[in-house]
Amino acid sequence: MGAIILDGKVVSQKVKDGLKLRAAKLAEVGKPAALAVVIVGDDPASRVYVNGKKRDCEEIGIITEEYALPADTAETEVLALVEKLNSRADMSGILVQLPLPKHINEEKIINAINPEKDVDAFHPTNVGKIMIGNHDFLPCTPAGVMAMLEYYDIPIEGKECVVIGRSNIVGKPQAMLLLHKNGTVTICHSRTKDLAIVTKRADIVVVAIGRAEFLTADMIKDGAVVIDVGMNKNADGKLVGDVKFDEVSAKASAITPVPGGVGLMTRAILMENTVKAAEKL
Ligand code: NAP
Repeated sequence: MGAIILDGKVVSQKVKDGLKLRAAKLAEVGKPAALAVVIVGDDPASRVYVNGKKRDCEEIGIITEEYALPADTAETEVLALVEKLNSRADMSGILVQLPLPKHINEEKIINAINPEKDVDAFHPTNVGKIMIGNHDFLPCTPAGVMAMLEYYDIPIEGKECVVIGRSNIVGKPQAMLLLHKNGTVTICHSRTKDLAIVTKRADIVVVAIGRAEFLTADMIKDGAVVIDVGMNKNADGKLVGDVKFDEVSAKASAITPVPGGVGLMTRAILMENTVKAAEKL
């Protein structure tokens, strides 16, 4: 029969349309949402991401200020910039594009961001709030996945949810958000034994490992919902996910495409966090 395609374009547009109204209201009362984007060095992928984020801000009506620093910028200088942005009443959000050059301690920089301006939700305060279920900012990718499941009325309560990947930015918070919605959650990783046995149990599988077309049809049960977070280049240089789309979509009941799936949701939720930050100022 084939799976329903969970369309990131449709869902992210709906989120963004709502944000445009909220951003316009903020501008009307003289408190426009503003995002500072800090980028250190000249990593081409980071540049593409930053440009995309700036375009999203423009579409929604969020002011952006870019701080592009050379790759050899000292850690103390980045910290000083973050402190300056923290103290600015007109700057509601701060985003430091990762990865940072090796001589800069990412954790130190993230910890320096005022949690109320931490639109990526990477600061330990926000991570802790996610654990407790009392969250101001939700991490962009996992929250984007949840928004997609909600839009398509996919029930989570009581379902077997398997998350493959346990990174701090995707796998772990994803598991937590599914748990808060009363899913029965299993987290898998590179040391998981007999991964397919676990994934075959799942009603909902979220794959976030960064291995091109890793999840194959024989690893899921009939009718599973498959969420593909991965973004990889295949041998032909084409963008592919962590899921072997053609064969898995023939067996799943719903699936996200790559591109056109979770990536767009991540961007939309970043915008939501930025508007939220401005509303709280
Ligand atoms: P990461 O920090 O590299 O973490 C990868 C995780 O996958 C680790 O927990 C690792 O296990 C696990 N893993 C690796 N190989 C595995 C295997 N063969 N079997 C089971 N688990 C395995 O990656 P990430 O930052 O979470 O990103 C994951 C993917 O999502 C990447 O492709 C990234 O580009 C993409 N991504 C997409 C978006 C989006 O918006 N769509 C956002 C963020 C990331 P260990 O912990 O045991 O090493």
